[in-house]
Amino acid sequence: MEFQAPRGTSDVLPNDQKYWRYVEKTASEVAESFGYRRIDTPVFEDTNLFIRGIGDSTDIVEKETYTFKDRGGDSLTLRPEGTASVCRAYLQHGMHNMPQPVRLFYLCPNFRYERPQAGRFRAFHQFGIEAFGESDPYIDAEVIEVSWSFLKKVGIDDISLSINSIGDSDCRPKYISALTNYYQNYSESLCPDCLRRLEINPLRLLDCKIESCQPVIESAPKGVQYLCSPCESHWAQLQDYLSNTGIAFEIDNTLVRGLDYYSRTVYEISPPTQKRTNVIAGGGRYDGLLEQLGGPPTPGIGFGMGIERVIENIKRLSVNFEIDSTLTIMFAHIGEKAKKETIRLSSQIRQLGKEAFVGPSRGLRSQMRYASHMNASHVIIIGDDELSTGLYTLRNLNNGDQTEITADGIINFVKEYDTGRKVD
Ligand SMILES: [Zn+2]
Ligand SMILES: [Zn+2]
Repeated sequence: MEFQAPRGTSDVLPNDQKYWRYVEKTASEVAESFGYRRIDTPVFEDTNLFIRGIGDSTDIVEKETYTFKDRGGDSLTLRPEGTASVCRAYLQHGMHNMPQPVRLFYLCPNFRYERPQAGRFRAFHQFGIEAFGESDPYIDAEVIEVSWSFLKKVGIDDISLSINSIGDSDCRPKYISALTNYYQNYSESLCPDCLRRLEINPLRLLDCKIESCQPVIESAPKGVQYLCSPCESHWAQLQDYLSNTGIAFEIDNTLVRGLDYYSRTVYEISPPTQKRTNVIAGGGRYDGLLEQLGGPPTPGIGFGMGIERVIENIKRLSVNFEIDSTLTIMFAHIGEKAKKETIRLSSQIRQLGKEAFVGPSRGLRSQMRYASHMNASHVIIIGDDELSTGLYTLRNLNNGDQTEITADGIINFVKEYDTGRKVD
């Protein structure tokens, strides 16, 4: 084959569509049940939005963005994550003048030039939410609960929650200088990435996955010991409010998240045995971000999770789910006269909003094979005999039941067919 999908991208073939429909539908339902409303933003934005919004010392902006000049000479970047775009939209549309908090969710494709490996894609999809204009930690607990409830509802049961507070612009500098001082004693044993982090982004030292850096991380000073008193009470209240949701959590003082803009609450959800290596959802508070993007000081908090990774976990756990059972009728026909009748009836059924199509002009057996390949729920067979009696054969492919039915009977059957929601 001359052409393949680009590295790090994949096709979602018809057989896998059910996972996507299931995940997207459940995500919308759960987010909406908490009062979040959907927002969609463009696939590309002004490059500076991400430089200002994510930070130019992050891996994402340094080496992972798809950035290009358009024909007018403007520098544009394919969205590498959801938050900066939603913040931009919040400010652009004056949502900061609306009653706060503003609760938004999104389902969108993102693009990062990453080294392709298991579970990492260059084009991937995210489900995320953002809550703006509320600094009270009840909303931190709420955001965590949205992601937790979604994962539980979608059938990913074996998850655990880790939380941490990384302080704010008042208290974090003190912590960062303590951390830097500590790390300077270990500079010979650090990995090259950590040596760089020590210079440009010390908090991310705690995020290193390299084995030889782990002992240094373990005995590093902990951020929660340096919290100022407003951050400390925010942190204590968050834990209190989380307890009221009934979600069990673990405090992980090395949790910092990869992006520069987080403050106070950060959290991750992963299978208990695969912490850090299979993070399914992560998020946190970013109280300085909107100001950094030119808006008024506005608190914000949110999470993002990769839909591909969610689906991987659904498959890993062999979660049983059914999406709306749909009525799909194929008309099998024997003879030219019968074929015309199937064209007429399938057209009528489509006008009722249901799916119906005519079988291929081949023998009956071949038509039946096609019906099962197409996942038809029912086949209606019409031949010369059926035309003369006016009684057609209706076969349910799900259970094998077969009955005789008139043309009017078919229309009534379709009108009354209950799609039976089976999710929940
Ligand atoms: Zn390291
Ligand atoms: Zn503080």
